[in-house]
Amino acid sequence: MPKNIIIAIDGPAGSGKSTVAKLLAQKLGFIYVDTGAMYRAVTYLALQADAKVESEIVKLLKSVELRLLFEDGVIKVLANGDDITDELRSPVINDNVSFVSKIPEVREQLVLLQQNLVKYGSLVAEGRDTTTVVYPDAEIKVYMEASINERARRRYLEFEAKKENISIEQVSKNLSERDRIDSQRKVSPLKIAEDAEIIDTTEFSIDEVVEKLLKKVYDRLKV
Ligand code: C5P
Repeated sequence: MPKNIIIAIDGPAGSGKSTVAKLLAQKLGFIYVDTGAMYRAVTYLALQADAKVESEIVKLLKSVELRLLFEDGVIKVLANGDDITDELRSPVINDNVSFVSKIPEVREQLVLLQQNLVKYGSLVAEGRDTTTVVYPDAEIKVYMEASINERARRRYLEFEAKKENISIEQVSKNLSERDRIDSQRKVSPLKIAEDAEIIDTTEFSIDEVVEKLLKKVYDRLKV
């Protein structure tokens, strides 16, 4: 049986990695793995249960069955069978997710779930640590970045479309704070893998980046 292929895309929030990874997965017929959604799901559950300290959050995670479902091109997150996908992208989750994602036991458990997915097929996985920790042997590794102003502009437009009441300054502050915590945490900090290609998306459209990556995949895999 041919080996399943892994394409891992790392980078900070707003660098475009989710949109690019989703499109790339669709075009290649690969499974899309949104690792950030898993950390967001644990954050949502912790907020719901009012679990504030690390030990409570770890205990909570052990009692929940988290599943990722790929349906009609969209990823769904199920917690004990309930679809919580629509709850995961709010400002309150953004403000708390970096705290939850720096808990070592949470990372351990979610990384195992993510690594397990490879048995279901070839993957396009995105998230901070996918190239360094989760899939260190990925066939293709990319680190996407963009200027903080451009990243804040992109996230602000997403909030505006959902009619969330938040200013671009607040969005920019949250991104900078998450960058700071994600890069400085002890376990699996956000960093550039030695063998990753760096793509600065500030000046490129999503389609241009997807085309560039598709070419890279075809070159690399000679398909
Ligand atoms: O990519 P997204 O913005 O959805 O990620 C939300 C948060 O989840 C990040 O700020 C980070 O704290 C955490 N995360 C992580 N490791 C990943 C994916 C996300 O720590 N692989």
